[in-house]
Amino acid sequence: MKLSVKAPAKINLSLDVLNKREDGYHEVKMVMTQVDLADRVELQSQEGTKITVEMSSGLVPTDNRNLAYQAAALLQKRFTVNQGVSIYIKKNIPVAAGLAGGSSDAAAVLKGLNILWDLHLSKEELADLGAEIGSDVSFCVYGGTALATGRGEIIQPLSSPPPCWVILAKPPIGVSTADVYRRLSIDQSKPNCSDIMKRAIEEHDYKKICDMLSNDLEDVTLKMHPEVKQIKKRMEKSGVDAALMSGSGPTVFGLIQKEARVHRVYNALRGFCDQVYAVRLISQPNT
Ligand code: ATP
Repeated sequence: MKLSVKAPAKINLSLDVLNKREDGYHEVKMVMTQVDLADRVELQSQEGTKITVEMSSGLVPTDNRNLAYQAAALLQKRFTVNQGVSIYIKKNIPVAAGLAGGSSDAAAVLKGLNILWDLHLSKEELADLGAEIGSDVSFCVYGGTALATGRGEIIQPLSSPPPCWVILAKPPIGVSTADVYRRLSIDQSKPNCSDIMKRAIEEHDYKKICDMLSNDLEDVTLKMHPEVKQIKKRMEKSGVDAALMSGSGPTVFGLIQKEARVHRVYNALRGFCDQVYAVRLISQPNT
């Protein structure tokens, strides 16, 4: 049996870092939403219990360091599955970009193998398993738009934001999330933007969403990589409604509601940055 699952990228509309926990993780509060730039994850049963991963791009290891491999191995071990799977990933999401590409691939494997291996696990159970692989995997299991707390694994689904275009621009650098967190100094007196962002989404208030875009990691990455700052400036100048860096970066996204402006912004960035995408928010969680 063969199955194909879409693995969409995410952006952070807000990201508050609250404190550093004793277990070494950071306590965060963030609003995340998915966009229609997606990897395609194909799963095919194979003889024996072997798990193999193949990817369309050679940038990521395909052994047990691959998050898709880890998702399959976790299910196989936890539920003593006597079946193997071959995983093929058509990679469309830039790697180490702040778009959770690897986490989304892992979530797609969890969801796909739940069907292929007849495991009958609920979304909550899959999200809990996802948290064992990485903090963003639980969100990717739910999909759509959500408030994420804890180290990012406690998910409260939210309604969809008003429809809009999203321009993504990624400079040719990879950013290590761990490195960014290491350099961050946490300001606990800072107002918590994610609660306001959550309210703006519930109120379907596009202007407030634009006004409240905020990411505590942005300053750290912008200082390390001035080219990210230039991309953000260029995006703002070219006519987006609002712009922000996603996750630990380096991808910068811009929101635009007027379709007529999308081409202008896209073209302004194309001459400046090699990876640029014009996509839309996903209004419903993928199943
Ligand atoms: P994070 O914010 O979680 O670090 P990201 O969105 O910035 O993630 P990813 O594309 O998920 O970046 O890649 C982060 C790291 O995960 C890379 O170093 C990559 O080698 C590793 N990785 C493991 N499996 C995958 C996968 N299936 N796709 C992409 N990266 C993967």
